Amino acid sequence: MEERLNAMEEYLKNEKQIFIKYEDKIDSTSFCKLQDMMNTYQKTKVKECFERSDIHGITFLVEYPCVICKNTKTERLSKTQLFELLERKHIQLCDECLNKQREEEKEKARKLEEINRELAKENEDEFFNEWLNPDYSLTKEAIKNPYNARNDIYNSMWFIDQAKIKDYVNNQMTYKQYLSTPYWQLVSMLAKRKAKYKCQLCGSNENLNTHHRSYKHKGFEIRHMEDLIVLCQDCHSKFHEVV
Ligand SMILES: [Zn+2]
Ligand SMILES: [Zn+2]
Ligand SMILES: [Zn+2]
Repeated sequence: MEERLNAMEEYLKNEKQIFIKYEDKIDSTSFCKLQDMMNTYQKTKVKECFERSDIHGITFLVEYPCVICKNTKTERLSKTQLFELLERKHIQLCDECLNKQREEEKEKARKLEEINRELAKENEDEFFNEWLNPDYSLTKEAIKNPYNARNDIYNSMWFIDQAKIKDYVNNQMTYKQYLSTPYWQLVSMLAKRKAKYKCQLCGSNENLNTHHRSYKHKGFEIRHMEDLIVLCQDCHSKFHEVV
């Protein structure tokens, strides 16, 4: 036992040995060797072989190869920064390659933005030219799958200028035209489905109409289905007499 304890003590004593000091310059070859060591041995053990200073701002002078062009870059790094590089948490790039990469990322972001803008424009065109076109009728696809159609409209409406929609439905067409747009046909169909194809006053299932209780959200009924009520022809005319 004693023998083993002595060996243990020896091990503990040796473990804290400092091999790399702050005044050392870590050249490119050494950097790569250290990186290999990080893969082969316990990372914490490797870390313990480096001098550790409690003084803030003390740095190692490090030279390392750029992973892209292999040119070396020299900079002063804190122990934490150095180990982030050694552990490959940060990609080792020279300034030139770093700038190039940043430019490429910016370019990618710019292209993505452009694609998104085009997509939004397409959505908008489709909304005005098809959904709000009184000469169009609801597609078979939308009749078959009204909830998909509803979701498509609902989502694309968020990306369209609200004032533009308001102006379009209020000033660019008559109310009668509005009622014949595929948009309104879909909204009306959804309202009737929700009412289980029954008049919400008398329960009749004949000649159903979707009536606006309020025009406050005209053009946006799909977001305000509570503004609508489904009525049979008789109740509908009574409703309009009273109001
Ligand atoms: Zn480079
Ligand atoms: Zn009724
Ligand atoms: Zn009405």
